[in-house]
Amino acid sequence: MEIKILDENTINKIAAGEVIERPASIVKELIENSIDADASKIVIEVEEGGKKLIKVSDNGIGMDKKNSLLCFKKHATSKIRNINELENLKTLGFRGEALSSICAVGRVEIITKKRGQLIGTKILIENGREKKILDIGCNAGTTTIVKDLFYNLPARKKFLKTKRTELANIIEQVTNMAIAYHEIYFKLLHNGKEILVAPKTSNLLDNIVNIFGKDLAKDLVPIEYKDKDIKIKGYISKTEVAIKNQKMQFFYVNKRYVKSYLISNIIKDVYRKYLPKDKFPIAFLFIEINPRLIDVNVHPTKRLIKFSNEKEIYNSIFSTLKNALQDSFLAPKMELMGKEIKFSFPKDKERFMVKEKTDFSYLAKAQKKILKSERMLKDKEKKAKIPEIEVICQFANNYIIGRGFRDDENLIIIDQHAVHEKIIYEQLIKIYDSKEKHTQNLLTPKILELGLKEKSIIEEYLDLLNEIGFRIEEFGGNSYIVKSVPIVMGRLESIDVIHEIIEDLLTIGIVRETSILKEKIAQIVACHSSVRAGDVLTISQMNDLINQLRNLDNPFNCPHGRPTIIILSKRELEKRFGRR
Ligand code: ADP
Ligand code: MG
Repeated sequence: MEIKILDENTINKIAAGEVIERPASIVKELIENSIDADASKIVIEVEEGGKKLIKVSDNGIGMDKKNSLLCFKKHATSKIRNINELENLKTLGFRGEALSSICAVGRVEIITKKRGQLIGTKILIENGREKKILDIGCNAGTTTIVKDLFYNLPARKKFLKTKRTELANIIEQVTNMAIAYHEIYFKLLHNGKEILVAPKTSNLLDNIVNIFGKDLAKDLVPIEYKDKDIKIKGYISKTEVAIKNQKMQFFYVNKRYVKSYLISNIIKDVYRKYLPKDKFPIAFLFIEINPRLIDVNVHPTKRLIKFSNEKEIYNSIFSTLKNALQDSFLAPKMELMGKEIKFSFPKDKERFMVKEKTDFSYLAKAQKKILKSERMLKDKEKKAKIPEIEVICQFANNYIIGRGFRDDENLIIIDQHAVHEKIIYEQLIKIYDSKEKHTQNLLTPKILELGLKEKSIIEEYLDLLNEIGFRIEEFGGNSYIVKSVPIVMGRLESIDVIHEIIEDLLTIGIVRETSILKEKIAQIVACHSSVRAGDVLTISQMNDLINQLRNLDNPFNCPHGRPTIIILSKRELEKRFGRR
């Protein structure tokens, strides 16, 4: 094949791929430009997960006509003049390629007016070239509109995910920025509906509360450290609080949101003693460092950064976090006993989030009620698909070992978590279909303080949650009140369970069929209501579980499709021992 130099249009489209992967990348770049332009208010409007339209408006310094005609050209930037200025970088942008990349992959309109000038400019850009330029009257600041993302790159358009997933990415992106800039007002709208509003606040903690809800704030410990080259600030969660992924860990270096294995690992190391392997703490870490000691230019999206002195960074962050945690243990809990004030220090055990429940006698009661109301009690024995089982013992705190009750022919191994999850799941599905909702009123209703992302999720699923036996109602602002829960959930030990359920609801993705949606919700609620692997059970608790399992239509699989029970026949054992 002959070698040819690609034409400029093709080069631009290829290069754009590095910076603009999806709608959320555009949102990120445009917000960064607004922040660099000294905006105190940024409004992001998107339609159809950003695939159809993305519009970012700011009240920043704006551009005059000359600059507005340059800004979307390749390598056009007002932020650095030469490579040495990278050492003193104060802005988020510097590569001068965001706008040109965006213009290569979508139809763009820029409306801008420089502060202090009378007339603004509107430019329409298509395939990287200006199509139309107009003088117009507008407010100072800049609005950038991107329509029909990848209209000219069908192959890339195909790789976009569902609207909901793209929107989730956008929410994440806006949240990342809003956390770091408490002095800026952010608002995100999707198809005209308000998704997230982060008003200006005077400090980081107020900002976190606005974004994630009050419930989070009480679980946080402040951190602070300062020396010549590095300052560390922020909040980390107490050791008794943790979630099952790293989504609530936010790292910023010089106010730039970054992913950093180094910092993730420091956090793991600090909490290693306190948390099980599959639980992760929450962290908001702000590192201010001499720009000379980092390289932000290792990746086009600037998400990854390199520290030149990793070892020192490790040591300062590690000891800052460790000391903050240790201080939090020492804070005594105050208890008022009569007139005396007694101080008690949290015991080692209390530091872990082993708030998981093992008592589920309520479950048997609940099931009876449901069975009765459906008049299924009488043919219960007939339907059982699993033989009666005699419990021998619990193994590894997770498996119930038993044998066939009437004969000695089968060795039976049951996964307690999978079984319990399945029982609750089936009951929840029944509740959906039945008129009686079998709810359990909470003695004291619990207030749920929601972050903005959580709020948008609960709004979407509120009706379906209430139909399954919850009673959750709006309580003004970002608060909801939980009055009752499905009876199969038992006592609601901690409001965290609801937060975990909401977190999982986000993963449902696009589902239009209500019956499938109900199944998914039941799956999620069941997962968060069941006994865990690791809970010690008494023989009678194990018998309870088995009896309930025997009454299920399909006792053999958990809601995720994994097996609940393994039966090893005597024959099979004999074969393995070479007796047959
Ligand atoms: P970079 O941010 O790396 O400089 P961009 O392509 O994102 O590159 O933007 C090019 C230039 O356009 C910026 O340097 C800036 O001068 C100007 N610009 C872009 N967006 C805005 C905005 N919202 N307000 C004012 N100026 C802007
Ligand atoms: Mg930029």
